[in-house]
Amino acid sequence: MDTEVLVVGAGPTGMTLANELLTAGVSTVLVDRLARRSELSKAGGVQSRTLEVLDQRGLLEPLLATGDHPVTTGHFAGVPLPHSSDRHRLPWRSVPQVVIEGFFEEHLGARGLHVRRDHELVGLAQDGTGVTATFAGGTSLRARYLVAADGAHSTVRSLLGAAFPGEPGTLTIIAADVRLDGADPSASHTWNEDGYWAALFPLGTDAEGRPLRRLVLGGPGQSLPRETPVTEDDIRTGLNTVFGTKVHLLELRYARRITNASRQAERYRHGRVFLAGDAAHVHLPLGAQGMNTGMQDAFNLGWKLAAAVRGWAPANLLDTYHAERHPAGAAVLRNVRAQSLLMDWAGTRDPEVLAAREIFTSLAQLPDVQNHLGDLMSGMAIRYPMRDPAPGGTSHPLLGLPVPDLDLGGVRVHELLRAGRGVLLDPADAYGEVAAAWSDRVVLAGRGAAIEPLLIRPDGYVCWAPPAPLEPALHHWFGEPL
Ligand SMILES: Cc1cc2nc3c(=O)[nH]c(=O)nc-3n(C[C@H](O)[C@H](O)[C@H](O)COP(=O)(O)OP(=O)(O)OC[C@H]3O[C@@H](n4cnc5c(N)ncnc54)[C@H](O)[C@@H]3O)c2cc1C
Repeated sequence: MDTEVLVVGAGPTGMTLANELLTAGVSTVLVDRLARRSELSKAGGVQSRTLEVLDQRGLLEPLLATGDHPVTTGHFAGVPLPHSSDRHRLPWRSVPQVVIEGFFEEHLGARGLHVRRDHELVGLAQDGTGVTATFAGGTSLRARYLVAADGAHSTVRSLLGAAFPGEPGTLTIIAADVRLDGADPSASHTWNEDGYWAALFPLGTDAEGRPLRRLVLGGPGQSLPRETPVTEDDIRTGLNTVFGTKVHLLELRYARRITNASRQAERYRHGRVFLAGDAAHVHLPLGAQGMNTGMQDAFNLGWKLAAAVRGWAPANLLDTYHAERHPAGAAVLRNVRAQSLLMDWAGTRDPEVLAAREIFTSLAQLPDVQNHLGDLMSGMAIRYPMRDPAPGGTSHPLLGLPVPDLDLGGVRVHELLRAGRGVLLDPADAYGEVAAAWSDRVVLAGRGAAIEPLLIRPDGYVCWAPPAPLEPALHHWFGEPL
């Protein structure tokens, strides 16, 4: 083997995964076909759950220190969700994808993992012990596992012949990074009466400190083939159609047309090859979910692959990646479909859609509805389908959910997860003897704290609580003691 894990694609998914593997001490190669990092801003929003997991790896503070990354209001179908910011410990931040990728590349480089650029994967073969990847130019590399984080048009997915069912794109809209004059900084979505709409989100500032915006433009007849270049005139006409003469384009930095294709890989695991991020799911970028979902895929898969490489992964642990992340991805695709319909993405002005939108908008003023939608979009409501591993198990309300950031008196639970190992909270010192055999994988903590006992996986999900017996849960998630 040249390496334990080969990660193909150094976007946010691949970078996050490489960092997880590095944290677990697994030899990893990260390749990308691009000679230089992409400068496309793409994603602009980081959701609560992603922020939380970054904090659990000690990366949040340094990431936020890279610039001005304000807390912003989320939305569902263009309807603002003001209360979602109050509900989660770390509310949605505006951090452009380029900043995240740059941050990760630097962080990985400082730890000795340098992205191998100009490496385009063109061939793939797997057998009982590993995967051989071939690159343009003829070089090859052998790894025990390969992760396809190579984006929406994944070469790995095509080479596998992996089913990617869903709906093809039928329309396009324009997404652009711009500087504007006259735009209301607090407005996110604006419609005109003919069904044209514009969405505006903060994207930080340029080198001179001037505010940048993500502008998305849609409406009837806007849909041109994806490859058609976007001109300044297209942007000016779009702005004029929605805002009249109030808003002016000062600078167009980058623009593209994006489609409403909605697809999800049928299987996330193909033997020793795993699909993650946009390689596994694509949808309209509504509500800042694509990058976040990909990074969550990586947090889920990283520790499991590390366990397999280390030799302690219980049977089926690697299969739980599909079992947990496929439903999470499917839920995102569903909420994006609902949003696309409600915001009349295609500008149909269908009276039934408009009526549904009117009722939805009034419902979305209710705090309970805002909380529900905020939980959905933030990734905080994802409960992994976890059965109590033993007879007599309990349906503890936290089972399968992210562990809250409990204060253990001087240290927070999320800080304890920084080593990338499991954590057993044992306030009454009742489980130390049982857990001792797993001490290389599970950190014992919380003695004397006013908390209840919990077993937490390295990705921060609660996987056991009393009165279920602890030992079967340790076997189930952390394998046989060495
Ligand atoms: C306009 C726009 C706005 C968006 N806004 C948001 C948002 O606010 N929040 C959010 O969460 N998401 C958002 N998204 C979605 C987000 O950008 C994607 O979900 C995200 O980029 C997926 O990350 P990834 O790492 O899986 O794939 P990618 O970012 O596509 O990275 C894949 C990488 O693989 C490399 N690669 C491809 N093929 C090969 C090969 N054969 N060999 C080697 N390398 C290869 C590519 O060069 C690339 O670097 C937005 C997208 C768009 C277009």
